[in-house]
Amino acid sequence: MLRTPLISKVAGRKLDLSTGDPTKDKLLMGGLIVVIIAAVGAMVWSLTRGDKGGGGDGVITKDVALICVNPKCSYTDDMNRQDYYQKLNDELTFEELHGMNPPRTACSDCNHPGKSVVQGIYCPNCRKGFVNPEVLFNVRRQLGFPAQPPAPKLMCPHCGTDVLAFRAEQGKKK
Ligand SMILES: [Zn+2]
Ligand SMILES: [Zn+2]
Repeated sequence: MLRTPLISKVAGRKLDLSTGDPTKDKLLMGGLIVVIIAAVGAMVWSLTRGDKGGGGDGVITKDVALICVNPKCSYTDDMNRQDYYQKLNDELTFEELHGMNPPRTACSDCNHPGKSVVQGIYCPNCRKGFVNPEVLFNVRRQLGFPAQPPAPKLMCPHCGTDVLAFRAEQGKKK
């Protein structure tokens, strides 16, 4: 029977938020929740803007290209941007989400233990998704797959378009 007061005492000390006035306490908690929601919103916003496709690419894609880097696996998928960031928030640790490496998620096809699915980019010409060759090289090396050093140009493996030159050309037409 001693437990309840003991726990509330500890909880009260830990949080140290109680003013002793229930109305003020409610206001305080409400304010905290607003701050948390704002922080999460800002994080999602910064993530959304952190598109590695390069600025002013002229390609409006609502979706995210997801590609498995395992050379023996051909998993690709498209996902709604919002769902993708939700998935990242659900599946990744803080370090995985904010570290130096591009976020990786588990592949439902090959189930590689190292999480082998990365976000790709869409070719502005054929609109197919592919992984930036530099990212592909680095992630494949990290996961122990054979990897070839990336070509100096950002070339679409599907149609051979030089993506940056294509974007520059499109920018001129505007
Ligand atoms: Zn896979
Ligand atoms: Zn292409």
